[in-house]
Formats: sequence, C-alpha cells, structure tokens
Amino acid sequence: MWAFALKQAIEFVPLLGNLGAFIGVLVGMVVNWPSLKNATSTMKRLTVPSLMACLLWLAAAHVIQAQTHNHDGASPCGLHQAQEQLFALRPETRRLALDAERSLERETQLAQTSGQRDELLVIPIVFHVIHFNGPENISTAQVVDAVDVLNTNLRALNANIVEVIPEFEDVVADVEIEFRLAQRDPSGNCHPGINRIVSDLTYVGDSEMKSLIQWPRNKYLNVWVCEYASGAAGYALYPGSVANNQNSDMDGIVLQHTYTGSIGTSSPYRSRTLTHEVGHWLNLRHTWGNSNNPGLAENCDEDDNVNDTPNTLGWSICSLDGVTCGSLDNVQNYMDYSYCGRMFTEGQKQRMRTAALSTTAQRNQLSTATNLEATGVAGEDILCAASFLTDRNIICVGDSVLFTDQSYHGVTEWSWDFGDGASMSGLEADGANEVYHTFETSGAFEITLTVGNASGEVSTSAEAAVYVMGGGELNLPLEQGFETEEYPNSLWFVEDPLEDGTWEPTTAASFTGNRSVMVENWSNTIEFNDDFLRTATMDMSEADQIQIHYRWAYAFKGTNDDSETDDRLRVSVTGDCGNDWDLRRMHRGFTDLPSANPTPFPFVPSDAEDWNEYTIVLDQPQYLTENFRVQFEFESRLGNNIFLDDINITAVVDGINGVDELGSPALWSLAPNPTQHSSSTLRFHLNRPSPCQAVVQDASGREVARHALSATSGPQQWNLPAPSVPGVYLLQLTSDLGLQRTWKWVVR
Ligand SMILES: [Zn+2]
Repeated sequence: MWAFALKQAIEFVPLLGNLGAFIGVLVGMVVNWPSLKNATSTMKRLTVPSLMACLLWLAAAHVIQAQTHNHDGASPCGLHQAQEQLFALRPETRRLALDAERSLERETQLAQTSGQRDELLVIPIVFHVIHFNGPENISTAQVVDAVDVLNTNLRALNANIVEVIPEFEDVVADVEIEFRLAQRDPSGNCHPGINRIVSDLTYVGDSEMKSLIQWPRNKYLNVWVCEYASGAAGYALYPGSVANNQNSDMDGIVLQHTYTGSIGTSSPYRSRTLTHEVGHWLNLRHTWGNSNNPGLAENCDEDDNVNDTPNTLGWSICSLDGVTCGSLDNVQNYMDYSYCGRMFTEGQKQRMRTAALSTTAQRNQLSTATNLEATGVAGEDILCAASFLTDRNIICVGDSVLFTDQSYHGVTEWSWDFGDGASMSGLEADGANEVYHTFETSGAFEITLTVGNASGEVSTSAEAAVYVMGGGELNLPLEQGFETEEYPNSLWFVEDPLEDGTWEPTTAASFTGNRSVMVENWSNTIEFNDDFLRTATMDMSEADQIQIHYRWAYAFKGTNDDSETDDRLRVSVTGDCGNDWDLRRMHRGFTDLPSANPTPFPFVPSDAEDWNEYTIVLDQPQYLTENFRVQFEFESRLGNNIFLDDINITAVVDGINGVDELGSPALWSLAPNPTQHSSSTLRFHLNRPSPCQAVVQDASGREVARHALSATSGPQQWNLPAPSVPGVYLLQLTSDLGLQRTWKWVVR
C-alpha cells in the first residue's frame, strides 16, 4: 500500500498564472510499473460493498462449475459467469439471446456452404482504462502493444506459429481481421483511442464498471482494462447474448491489466487473453464446447461447432500430444486454456468472419467504409495533438525527469525544448519519443514538445511543468503553524490523486495561532482516498539528528468508540529529495490517531485537549543531507476530518542540545493514565543533566500546578501528585535541553 502511494509522482506547485497549464500536463500522468500487484493487495483495496459483490459472484461461480485458475488466482476466462450474471440480472433477455444465437448459428452454417467475402475486415477498437491511480493505469505503450499482439495473432503473423505441430499446420488460418485503435471519438473529435477513468470499480470489474463508459458498439469494439476482471484474466460475451438492444450496454471485452498486451504489467505468456476474448466476441466457443470447464468427461459429447477443431476435454496445461476424445487435440488453439495458443483454424475463421459480417449485435456495421472513416481509421494516421507525460514534476538540482511522448497519431519526429536552454530532437531510433533530461539549475521550467510526420507538425507547451529545487529551500529551525500565506506554495506542496480536495488551510481550528491545515474527510465516500502534504528541501547536512514534532486532531465518525474508523496519518521522510520516501510513523484510527471523542458531525477540535502530538527523531546518515524532506499522508477509511498544526523541524547538533533515540520525547511516558491514585509517574531519559518542569493545566487552560526537577542524565522516574479534583488535565513536561511533551492526564 505504501509503495503504491509513493509511486504517485504528481505534485502541484501553483506558480502564479501557471496552475492551469501545469495541471493540464499532469492530468493523466502515467507511471510504468513492473507487475508486482498480487491478489492480497487487490483484496485489501476492495470496498466492503464491492467485496460483498465479489463474494456473491465467487459463490455463484462456484455453484455453476469448478474453476480452472491461473497461478495468480484469476481464471483464464469469465465468459460463462458473465453470461449467467447478465441473465440473472435481466432474465427476460435469456430467450432473446437464445434466439439470436440460433439465428447466428444458421447464418454460420449457410456461410460454410455458400462461402464468404474474402477481404481484410478492419474494426475500430477503443480502450477504457479504469483505474484508481494504481498499476492498472497501464501505459499507452502497453495498450498499443495489446492491439499489436491481437492483430499479429489474428493474421497468423506470430513468430511462434512455427511451433504449431505438423498435424495442424494445414488448418492454420489467417483470419483476415485487423483491429485499429480509434483516432476519432463518437463525436468525430480527434482522439488517442484510450480513455482513462478514475474509479474504484477497477477493483470489481463487473457490469457496473462497464457502465462508467461505453462507446457505441456498432462503431467500436469496447475494451475495459481494470485491476480485477471479476476474477478472470478477461471475459467477453457472445454476439447472441448482447444482440438485443437492452443488453448492448454489456457488449465488449473486460481485461485484467496483467493480461493486457505483452509488456508493462503483463507478459508474453499472458498476452493472448485479448485474442481469446475476441474469439468469443466473434462467436467462438472454447475448443471443448460451450462451457468454462475444461477436463470434464462429458466434454467429448460437447462441440464448439467448428469442423476442424477435434472434440476434446480441454486443457489447462500445454500437452501437445494430448488425445482426450479419440483423436489428437488442438491444444495450441487460442480457444483452449493451455496457455500455449498459437493458432486459429480455418473453421474458426469462417465462424468469426460470419459474426463480424452479421447484423447480430450490429457487428456488420463496424467494418463498413463509412464507419472506418467516422472513427478515423480508414487511411493515413491523423496528426491530432502533441502530448507528453513526466515521471515526476518536483525534483532537486541534478535530478532527471523522464519525458514520455503521448502524441497521436502516427508521429515520426520529436523535438523537445526543456526550458533550461537544452533541447533534443530526433526519430524513434534516436530514442526521441522517450527522453531523460537532467536539470542542473533550480527554477520552474516550461517544456515544449513539437511532433510531426509527413503531413505536418503540432506543438504543445506546458509552463512550470518541472519544478527544480535547490538544497535547503526551507529555513531551519522550521516552525510551521500555517498562520499566514497560501498553501500549497513553492515550499509546501500537495498532491491530490483523485482531485477531490486535499490538505488546505483552515481557520476552523488550531492548536496555536488561528489556523491549521485540514483534510475535509467527513463527506468523503471513497475509501483509500489519499492526500499528501510535502515540504520543500531542508539542509540537514550539518546535523547529527533531526527532530520532527507535529500535532494533529482527529475523531471517529460516529457516536461512540465502537464507531471506529481506521483512517491513517502516515509521516514519511526522504534524504534524496523524494526519490525514495521512508515511512517513519503511522498513526491509525485503531491505535493512536483519535485525539478527541467520536462525533457523527464534521469534526472540528474545540480546544487543546482535542489534539495529539508526536516527535520523530532521526539520525540515520541517509537523512542528514541538504535534500531532506517530510511528507504527511492522510489515507481515508471513511472516517472524520483531520487537522494538522505546529510542524516543527529542528536540526540538532550533538553536544549542544542533543538527544539520541533513547532521549526522544516519543518514548517518554506517563502512567497510570487515567489515574485513580494520588499520583502518576513520568518516565523519561536524558542524555545530559538538565532542569525539567512539569506544568499542569485544567481544561480551561488555567495552570493548577507546576513542579521542577533537576534531573541527572540517564533514565528518570518522577512521581507527580495528581490534582485533587477529578477531571481532564494537560500535563506538559519540558526539559531545558529543548525537549517537550504534553499528555492528556485523566484524574478519576
Ligand atoms: Zn474463454
């Protein structure tokens, strides 16, 4: 989870007048990540309602049949579950679907006897990447690769086709269908052919997710890419199932991102999922028949209604000499579960082309000349727009930024101006479509990209697209109470991945002064909604130790302590400007995050008692640099508001007022608390002898007692008499070494 959050490299620096342009560049920023997402993290990220939906879904799937699963837990294909779900949702359409299926079957048989048009069929395809700012937000390159793999397989141009065993060489088919990424949207506007939608339905991957976006199915094949495709690598629906208008909103293919294309978060081994699902979308059944269950004895009596694919039980391993129904199986068929698909057969080709040219589910409208023109895929690539992504936008002098071209379509030349006097231009062979640039001076830089091809050129500029800090931008000691100025600014940054509001100054409450910063979390409905507040650089290169002290206020959303909400405040630090953030402290709802009583209303702390505080002490060499930064991250679990105030950061030089970890106020304790006794005991550690004071205030802030102690070095134990009147008090322990800690002291 933490790594996930940190990989968001989007930060906003509002420089006067430039914010719009800056955000414009940042929106849709993609980071290419290795495929490390596992099933556990997927489950962790599911909301409770979606988890329920999944459990119900899995339960339903279990009743229908025993499942074949890949090593990552996904079943190879979810067509039949999706079909059953659809008919459970709309039972009245089952009959219509059956009729449409029979009609298309008759058409197919007729085509087998009368023959078919023999020409390349081109079909526009659009990808909807449904993501929650995680690795499922796959790169444009991965989508383009997925289309390439699909076409290569359909045209039998795959290099591994030479591995097809001799017995099936004669029936290998070039299907003569090609999919082209849309270059115009349904309104005719120039378009990259990829939509990116932020939604946590990416963790569900069901029909509700499809309803987020669908382009007309008579103009495009819709492909939705998500984190979790309802438990399958991917799924489609037969043309018959969606033939009637009512079900047209379900038409298309859903893919788990780790099974999309052969690069990025996917792999060559998993890259054939789209080929398999396009088979279904064009009316192909699994080689063993009309079910999701390979290996069942009764499959020998089932048929896929294709003459040249021998009857088979079906495979979930690549057993090339497999004979299951009295003849050699076509294990290398894309429509088996063997994961060594190399081919479609001539019989399958005929079936697919019949579906593609049938009025069933309006498939015949896709490949018409009119539609290819309308979707921009008829001829030459349309040079629409220059566009690029950066892997990060706030860096330090000497750091590099990766610029990735996102221009469309058919760009052959690139020219970059990095705004610092440097430029780079060239062709793809020169690596000009993906360039690193190292910034050697501080400042905000405007980036200009000009792209072109034979038909012309287009350009885009992004002001302040890269903000470069020097070391030690913030003065020390830092005392930040957010009293004046606007936040964020060029020294305090925020990141709001969902763009729904983030840390901002408020006069509603403060521990000291009149203002603090808060995240309005009470009305947030999105679990795992993250918000970041980050400092600019601080120079710790001369320090022996760093002390970070902060106060926060938070309450459960509810009427009592049972209404726990497990929101998290995470504090991370970096010594390398933010290339790597290390978590140093997490305050959780279930542990020490709550500082005040639960409230069902939007929480606002009313007085000092409603605040908690903490001190982080660091002395690891990797942090003692001039590029030290601190990050406060709030991750919502649908609880109440959080406030942050009095962020004090100090560089401590040994021998002056030094403490080590042992001497950190974070380790100081007060017990018992609450107390029913006449006293409580303060335990703390001092590295050097120092006078100490303990000040006790009542709830109204009135000082009721003050104690002094001249402490030696080492562990300390100090019994303090409790106030005689029961109540809630504030006890503040201060050492003349400059260390301090405050407790709420409850006397009963
Ligand atoms: Zn399938």
